[in-house]
Amino acid sequence: LIQLYIPLNMLGFVYREIKQGLIDMEAMFKVLDVPEEVQDKPDARPLQVTGGEVRFEDVSFRYDQRRGILRDVSFTAAPGSTIAIVGPSGAGKSTISRILFRFYDIEQGRVTIDGQDIDAVTQASLRQAIGIVPQDTVLFNDTIRYNIRYGRPGATDAEVEQAAKLARIHDFIVSLPDGYDSMVGERGLKLSGGEKQRVAIARTILKNPPILLLDEATSALDTQTEKEIQTSLKEISRGRTAIVIAHRLSTVVDCDEILVLDKGRIVERGTHDVLLAKGGQYAGMWQRQLEAVEAEAKLAEVRAEG
Ligand code: ATP
Repeated sequence: LIQLYIPLNMLGFVYREIKQGLIDMEAMFKVLDVPEEVQDKPDARPLQVTGGEVRFEDVSFRYDQRRGILRDVSFTAAPGSTIAIVGPSGAGKSTISRILFRFYDIEQGRVTIDGQDIDAVTQASLRQAIGIVPQDTVLFNDTIRYNIRYGRPGATDAEVEQAAKLARIHDFIVSLPDGYDSMVGERGLKLSGGEKQRVAIARTILKNPPILLLDEATSALDTQTEKEIQTSLKEISRGRTAIVIAHRLSTVVDCDEILVLDKGRIVERGTHDVLLAKGGQYAGMWQRQLEAVEAEAKLAEVRAEG
C-alpha cells in the first residue's frame, strides 16, 4: 500500500536515503515529515485481537469536503472468513483498505475489530494486526533476504527461507548466482510483478498477522504465475480474516461474501452463485471477464497455428 500514499519521486528518495532505518510505515511518515492524518487518542489502548472479526458499520468518508467517496458502507468479515470487494475503478475499494489501516479518520460510522473501535486503539497495535499484500511491492536496494525479512526484522535466516518456500519463491532465489544475497531493487536485480508479489507474500508469512488485506494486481500475470500466487494467497488466508480487493473474478468464486462497490456504495452482496443468479452488475462483470478470457484463448490459438 505504501506506494498508494506517497508520490513516486518521494519513494525514490526513501529508497536512497533511509533504507536501513525504515522499519515501518510510521517511521516513513516521520522521515518524510508528512503530517500524520490521525493521532492516537491519549487513552488509546493496544488492540486485543481475539477472533479477528472486522466490521464496518454505516461508514461514510470523503477525502475532500466537496466529494463523498464512501457512503453507508456496512459489512462484517467473520473471524477466518474471506470477503472480496469488487467494482469499477474509482469505486472506493482501496479507500476501504486505507480506512481499515486507519490512514484516515471517518466522518460517520464505526470500524471495529473484535468489537474495538479502531479509533480507540493505538495505531501501532492496529498495523501490527494487519498484513498487507499490495499490488506492487516496494523493494529496497538490498539483498532479497533483507527484503523478505522486512516482514519481521527479528526473523532468523531459517525462518526467512521457510517463508520463501511457502510463498513459492525459494527455488527461484536459490537459482540466482548469489542466492539469498542477491541484490534487488532499483540498482539490483529487477523482479517481475509475480516475483515481487511473492516477496510480499513471504513478508506477510513472517509477520503472521491475524487479519490480511490483499490487493490483487491489475496487471496481467501469466496463467501459471497467477495460479501459483492464488494458491499461496489461499494458503496464507487460512485461519485468518482476509479482505481481498479482487480484479480477477476467478479469485472471488470461493469467497464467503462478495461486495460489489459502485460509486462508494455497496450495490450488491452475496456469494458468487447468488450474485450470478441475480443477473445484476456482478453477473455482467463475470460475463465480460469470461468473454475476455475466451478472446485471449482464441488469439493464442491463432498465433500457435500461424
Ligand atoms: P481502482 O480499482 O482504480 O484502484 P478503487 O475502487 O480502489 O479504484 P479508490 O482508490 O478507493 O478507488 O478511490 C476512490 C475515489 O477516491 C477515486 O475517485 C479517487 O480519485 C479518490 N481518491 C483516492 N485517493 C484520494 C486522495 N488521497 N485524495 C482525494 N481523492 C482521492
